[in-house]
Amino acid sequence: MSHFDVLIVGAGHSGAQATIALRQNKFEGSVAMIGDEPELPYERPPLSKEYLSGDKPFERLLIRPATFWEERDVTMLGGRTIVAVDPGAHMVRTADGETFSYGTLIWATGGKPRRIACDGHDLRGIHTVRTRADVDAMMRELADVREVTVIGGGYIGLEAAAVLAKLGKQVTVLEALDRVLARVAGEPLSRFFEAEHRAHGVTVRTGVQVEAIEGDGSVSGVRLASGENVPAQMVIVGIGIIPSVEPLLAAGAEGGNGVLIDGQCRTSLPDIYAIGDCALHANAHAGDRMIRLESVQNANDQATTAAKTICGIEASYDAVPWFWSNQYDLKLQTVGISAGHDQCVVRGDPATRSFSVIYLAQGRVIALDCVNSVKDYVQGRKLVVEGLAIDPAALADATVPLKELSA
Ligand SMILES: Cc1cc2nc3c(=O)[nH]c(=O)nc-3n(C[C@H](O)[C@H](O)[C@H](O)COP(=O)(O)OP(=O)(O)OC[C@H]3O[C@@H](n4cnc5c(N)ncnc54)[C@H](O)[C@@H]3O)c2cc1C
Repeated sequence: MSHFDVLIVGAGHSGAQATIALRQNKFEGSVAMIGDEPELPYERPPLSKEYLSGDKPFERLLIRPATFWEERDVTMLGGRTIVAVDPGAHMVRTADGETFSYGTLIWATGGKPRRIACDGHDLRGIHTVRTRADVDAMMRELADVREVTVIGGGYIGLEAAAVLAKLGKQVTVLEALDRVLARVAGEPLSRFFEAEHRAHGVTVRTGVQVEAIEGDGSVSGVRLASGENVPAQMVIVGIGIIPSVEPLLAAGAEGGNGVLIDGQCRTSLPDIYAIGDCALHANAHAGDRMIRLESVQNANDQATTAAKTICGIEASYDAVPWFWSNQYDLKLQTVGISAGHDQCVVRGDPATRSFSVIYLAQGRVIALDCVNSVKDYVQGRKLVVEGLAIDPAALADATVPLKELSA
């Protein structure tokens, strides 16, 4: 049985960054990454953007080239799924029965796309967007597809819709709630993106329930609760993820929707850390609510916190959340967490396609969504970091730079 001083399960964004940070902080012990995908760690955001559109080849998605890991003496163990953890013996086991022992374990497994549970859910032509393999499978079928239905109006679904519309497909987005992006953004942003998609020829339908996916072997359409059939030769399901934490929870780790971690990313099990999409944590920027964040920022910053802690360097996770999404020629940048806001201010005119939505709670700025507005994003960050109380009328006045309001 091989032993590693630090063993990282999951070779995605957070696993890769943990490894990088360990070596940056002079960790000299043995390090291995075990991942169930065959590839070296790669960036996931382009999967629904430049990779799907064909603008970026896979090689440009790699977080680091193969030589980087070799030079830092990191053992890469791809194509292996960890199914069991024995915290007492400091051991993990793969689906094939291979075992590895560790000094410290970092659990960095992300999540699996939530599947749709309706009749026809297993027909050919139904896809999710989480891995390179998912997108490659979609791309192989695309040539024979005229109509695509995207189930779920979240960021990933909307990004895929934008790319597919640009590729000339007839795209329909079906969202169960009364607006797209309802879980992550305020109404002005939702309405803006709905209008943009419509202007690009996408049919956006909100408040609709999917009853079944229809077809004979392959998808032919999506049946709504109203009985209507939306024709489609491809269906993309973008309804969120389920964190991949079963082996840790089975081993006794505290958690549920994710594995619970403290401010240093330690789980309740000895010598086991958890980071990234799978880590449930009290977030200072969400009023200390227990949340999981699904973003590159969170993956990287939690990874760095865990790595420093392992190296004996004081660190705690309190980074300000940020995120981006690209749709058509629109670049959305967000800072902070808007959930829990009691007021939102639109700054600038959405009709110009460059504006921001600023969220406040009890008079204090908690988040910004900036569309094609890098200046607001950069200058508004301080408002969020310091939770400043600013007059909403001043925030709405786009002629006054945000940096003047935080001065
Ligand atoms: C299509 C798409 C677009 C996105 N766009 C953005 C964006 O624009 N901006 C942004 O900030 N974020 C974006 N994200 C989110 C971001 O990519 C994730 O938050 C980030 O990848 C999380 O990193 P992670 O290490 O937690 O998980 P991942 O990167 O998913 O890595 C986890 C790895 O662990 C593997 N694994 C799981 N279970 C096991 C096991 N038992 N054994 C071995 N290996 C296992 C997984 O297969 C995976 O390879 C996007 C995500 C997707 C899917």
